[in-house]
Amino acid sequence: MLDITTQLTTNPKQKPAPDELGFGHYFTDHMFILDYTEGIGWHDGRIVPYQPISLDPSAMIFHYGQSVFEGLKAYVTVDNEVLLFRPDQNFKRLNNSNDRLCIPKIDEEYALEALKQLVSIDREWVPNAPGTSLYIRPFIIATEANLGVHPSNRYQFIIIMSPSGSYYKEGINPVKIMVEQQFVRAVRGGTGAAKTGGNYASALKGQEIASKEGYAQTLWLDGKENCYVEEVGSMNIFFKIDGKVITPALNGSILPGITRDSMIQVLKSKNIPVEERRISIEEVVEAHNNGTLEEVFGTGTAAVISPVGELKYLNDKLIINKGEIGEVSQMLYDTLTGIQNGSIEDTFGWTIRL
Ligand SMILES: *Cc1c(COP(=O)(O)O)cnc(C)c1O
Repeated sequence: MLDITTQLTTNPKQKPAPDELGFGHYFTDHMFILDYTEGIGWHDGRIVPYQPISLDPSAMIFHYGQSVFEGLKAYVTVDNEVLLFRPDQNFKRLNNSNDRLCIPKIDEEYALEALKQLVSIDREWVPNAPGTSLYIRPFIIATEANLGVHPSNRYQFIIIMSPSGSYYKEGINPVKIMVEQQFVRAVRGGTGAAKTGGNYASALKGQEIASKEGYAQTLWLDGKENCYVEEVGSMNIFFKIDGKVITPALNGSILPGITRDSMIQVLKSKNIPVEERRISIEEVVEAHNNGTLEEVFGTGTAAVISPVGELKYLNDKLIINKGEIGEVSQMLYDTLTGIQNGSIEDTFGWTIRL
């Protein structure tokens, strides 16, 4: 096993007040860095004070976008312990993304060990007000100084961490979303199933148009026939129709969310029927028109659940569950956040205590 050296900061930062946290504004005192050099492999794992990194302007990340990332959270439990939610799944998915972007794989166990050490060192940065958490952002960038188009021969794997505020300070209010007609997020054979920056860059335009029209997110349809539902914003999506919960099957262009997988397992454990299959936007509209569209919600690490109260499709505005959070959405939210804050027993074995 590779080891990890630690250099502690001599200049700890002031921690922000819990109600000022927001998302992604503040960073903890330390970060983890691991280098990759062709012929040597991954080497020099180290925890160092949080600081800027210096790269050659020709570093490949700036030009061709060869990079991958992850997002997960650490939570303070009701017993004042710190836990991580399914971190092994994040490093497994990071390696799947690496494979798609021609980035050398990392040792998942080593990465988890590095993460645990980093969180332990910055333990005081894990906020404990209700709903708050420490957002963790592992990422890999191509650092070879070269403008040729080929996989980089050098990389850096970095983990930074950001205390984040409660997503639902004012309670869970369902959002309005717009079905995107002009742009697509991902196509068959593309990089939709990998967590890579380019997917986000290409989604900005649709997002910008939606927010100008007063919608919080875009609902993405498939890139080939433009009729099957794929994702909502950067979340996976679920529909409850006539008592059954339906989510698009992983088809290679949908990001396999860890929250998505957790929701499916919770639903099965409660004997609520759940189907992973193709679902067209027409099927959703039809269900709405005949009164069987009961709930719609997005899932992801940041919000856990984001209920949808209105769906705009062409000239129709579908109002879902009177614009209120549904029963199943609320149950899933309570179950997952309860497991994450330790107030509900984790019968799934998802959490890792530091
Ligand atoms: C990260 C991400 C998700 C959600 O994944 P989680 O593991 O549940 O956080 C969904 N869709 C896209 C496009 C994503 O990048």
